[in-house]
Amino acid sequence: MTATTGREGQLWSRCAGCASLLYRKRLRRNLDVCPECGEHSRLDAPERVAQLVDPGSFTPLPERPAEVDPIGFVDVLPYPHRLSAARAGTGLAEAVVCGTATIGRQPCALAVMDFRFLGGSLGCAVGELITRTAERALADRIPLLLVTASGGARMQEGALSLMQMATVSQAIAELRDAGVLTVSVLTDPTYGGVAASFATNTDVVLAESGARMGFAGPRVIRQVTGRDLPEGFQTAEFLLHHGQVDMVVPRHALRGRLVALLAAARSGRRPALTAAVPRQESPSARPVSDATAAGSRPVPDGGDAWETVRLARHPGRPTTLDYLDTTFDGFLELHGDRLGGDCPAVVGGLARLDGRHVMVVGHQKGHTTGELVARNFGMASPAGHRKALRLFRLAARLGLPVVTLVDTPGADPGVDAEMQGQAAAIAENILCLSVLPTPVVAVITGEGGSGGALALAVADRVLMLQHAVYSVISPEGCAAILWPDRGAAPQAARALRLTAPDLCRLGVADDLVPEPAPAAHHDPEGAARMLRDAVLANLLPLLDVPPATLVRRRRQRFRRFGAARTGLRAGAR
Ligand SMILES: [Zn+2]
Repeated sequence: MTATTGREGQLWSRCAGCASLLYRKRLRRNLDVCPECGEHSRLDAPERVAQLVDPGSFTPLPERPAEVDPIGFVDVLPYPHRLSAARAGTGLAEAVVCGTATIGRQPCALAVMDFRFLGGSLGCAVGELITRTAERALADRIPLLLVTASGGARMQEGALSLMQMATVSQAIAELRDAGVLTVSVLTDPTYGGVAASFATNTDVVLAESGARMGFAGPRVIRQVTGRDLPEGFQTAEFLLHHGQVDMVVPRHALRGRLVALLAAARSGRRPALTAAVPRQESPSARPVSDATAAGSRPVPDGGDAWETVRLARHPGRPTTLDYLDTTFDGFLELHGDRLGGDCPAVVGGLARLDGRHVMVVGHQKGHTTGELVARNFGMASPAGHRKALRLFRLAARLGLPVVTLVDTPGADPGVDAEMQGQAAAIAENILCLSVLPTPVVAVITGEGGSGGALALAVADRVLMLQHAVYSVISPEGCAAILWPDRGAAPQAARALRLTAPDLCRLGVADDLVPEPAPAAHHDPEGAARMLRDAVLANLLPLLDVPPATLVRRRRQRFRRFGAARTGLRAGAR
């Protein structure tokens, strides 16, 4: 965050922290940290790699991302134009630099994000490249180091970018199982989908001095809550104080800490490579279109996307508790996260579906303003995500299948939620579901909002009600960022490809659950019957699949969004 000044641009920089005029070479020798005030300037990925690894030891991975635009996204500029500009501006092919290197003569695989490239956003290619880096770490049994810098998921790739949170988390889960160390270094800024996945579900999380990390950004939180933010909100020291990171490390000490961590990991006795962890098959072996072919019904054309958004949000629409009363029998609600909270926006417990015992977990909204307020509009707090996690694990221990009902505008973007670790809570759910050894069927019943939805939707089968939506960002939020104003929400809704027919075509959803005409809230009982039929049709074939096979297929299901969609090439120049 230093600004060059005038003709002396190459020689002098002005510190963004204290406004001192600094000799550039001196600043560079000091790792781009102001010697006067300690301000850490942002580093690009090549500079970061150079600071961390042994000189000359970095070998990039052979994979190169191909030109992609999976949903044909256009705002005021077509997405490929923004991509080309980012490539030209940074000299990088994507928002992450991946490879292997040694740090203190100890080998590791590393992925370093670059905020200059479309805000370090997590798209299909970025997710795939980081996943390949993790797989290289597993194959070589060397630690994985992730340096994060990101505004979140890449909205120009719609829900496919959201899926990358699951893809990378699955790869990290494999490293966990194999006893291979994973370390993330949070740098400024780390937000959204990156914060709520691989930035925080690694074994050790370091925060560089001056880094800020959170699920929701401060501007959004202020807008939504109208509250002033506490002093130092979301800074590295704040995160340390609230138990979110292992340590805060100034830049000049970062390499030394990593050397020490890698050395400790090397000295430990690792468990034998578990034969139970299946190697994955080539992700391109099953093209995405298989997903729709496997659906039991042809995908109808949807109505206008903005009209569907309005239907998905209709207050009369059946809620999770309504479905528990109609689609399911004998609901036995279980409460609490066992850590001090019981979030009313998430309900869950044991129930029966057509006589079979299942664990049901879902977001709960409400029909009246009072109900909606009491349920926080279906926006789960960290306690809600941790309650869901507890129920997922319980289901696995009991050998019960899991059915989730997703209906949330997004995870709670509040001050308290951030203090209680919203990003890490979502990240842990995504990781847990990705390897849960029991069948999981997720149904998007209304709004599937971003990471908060995915925290309940990493499943073997993902169903969508006919008038449900599933999106990386709300149309209003997307319009506010990419269009001149929020009034462009209807255009954004169309560009995001968030309807059930669109997402079935993209393979993000496997099956569309029809609703009684004109929509579910006109005939809740009919909607409940259609939901029961669809869940049974998708769940029953999963019941006889061995757990290891289920987990392997679930991995493939999410993995193909990266490789197959992007046409990632191996070994290109
Ligand atoms: Zn300074």
